[in-house]
Amino acid sequence: MLLFSGYTEGRDLCTFRTGGQIRYFGEIRKKEDIKDALDFSETAKLPLIAIGEGSNLIFGDGLLNVIVLKMNIKGIETTGKGTDSLDITAGAGVNWDSLVEYTIKAGLSGLEALSAIPGSVGASPVQNIGAYGCEAADTIVSVEVFDRTDGMFKIIPCAECRFGYRDSIFKKEGKGRYIITSVTFRLSKYPPPIPQYPDIIDFFRVKGQSAPSLGEIREAITTIRWSKLPDPATLPNAGSFFKNPVVDAETGRRIKMEYPDARVFPLDESRVKIAAGWLIEKAGYKGLSFGKISVYDKNALILVNNGGANHADLTAARGSISESVMEKFGIILEQEPDEVI
Ligand SMILES: Cc1cc2nc3c(=O)[nH]c(=O)nc-3n(C[C@H](O)[C@H](O)[C@H](O)COP(=O)(O)OP(=O)(O)OC[C@H]3O[C@@H](n4cnc5c(N)ncnc54)[C@H](O)[C@@H]3O)c2cc1C
Repeated sequence: MLLFSGYTEGRDLCTFRTGGQIRYFGEIRKKEDIKDALDFSETAKLPLIAIGEGSNLIFGDGLLNVIVLKMNIKGIETTGKGTDSLDITAGAGVNWDSLVEYTIKAGLSGLEALSAIPGSVGASPVQNIGAYGCEAADTIVSVEVFDRTDGMFKIIPCAECRFGYRDSIFKKEGKGRYIITSVTFRLSKYPPPIPQYPDIIDFFRVKGQSAPSLGEIREAITTIRWSKLPDPATLPNAGSFFKNPVVDAETGRRIKMEYPDARVFPLDESRVKIAAGWLIEKAGYKGLSFGKISVYDKNALILVNNGGANHADLTAARGSISESVMEKFGIILEQEPDEVI
């Protein structure tokens, strides 16, 4: 029988550490518990929200009349074998970085570039987590979900997950409909190439290593990431606060003409991606504080909670940054973390 606690502090459930009280909170440790949670939601007439470790999530202030379900289904197993690959299935509640570590210890490549990303396996397909030119969609075979429309468990193949840049069906039309219970990844038995990013190339050049092992690539990425990112345990944050905007090529050309140092990356013939951190920095916000919220001084894409900030403080900071970027560049910034308000 699934038990719920009443009036749980939202700030204890997210790494940004803002938020009021959640009306009901429960933990799903096995798939069968999901049906209990739905029954409870119907009786209480309150919406149900599945979460993982709260590293891409922000709660509003005051009393939030919702039921929050922390997905805590554990377990990692081999579910398929190919000549060159193994399929590994992990429960939604497995910590993401523990899965990466597990695969690397097993000599499997494919997830090493995603080392040290906070959060759970269950959330990895939601925003198709990515780093260093790699994203979860590159290795996901399928996602197991509980479909709330018919109460059935289903397997959604990768091709139907509509993965895009920090995007998927689970963020759009499937939001609220699918509760992710496990994810299956296909990983290679062969060593990976070194991710071709200046920081990583430099790391191995300095060490004089031309053919690092899987474990060494993981270690390099972990070291480089934590030298640039604030650790949520000591400086609460939700990682990148804005998505890198995708704009038409003409806008990209205009910005590049005006600012030759602009970080503009072509996506195809008609679209470019612009680094949101560069836009925010150029608008003069890097390191700036708005009371209890600051723009991180080493990376303008990250907002940090200096302690005791609430959702209203965050809204004010976000509004000011977005308006300035809009005024200066004519570009709309889209927030990356999900919000429960
Ligand atoms: C310091 C820092 C660095 C980060 N770096 C990166 C990075 O490099 N790349 C990157 O992509 N992200 C990054 N992130 C964001 C974050 O780590 C990822 O988005 C991660 O996948 C969130 O996992 P979570 O378990 O904390 O999800 P949560 O924050 O709990 O939830 C996020 C969203 O997923 C939904 N969700 C969660 N679990 C389920 C489930 N089982 N079923 C259905 N819906 C679910 C929630 O409702 C919510 O909408 C970073 C965050 C931090 C704090």
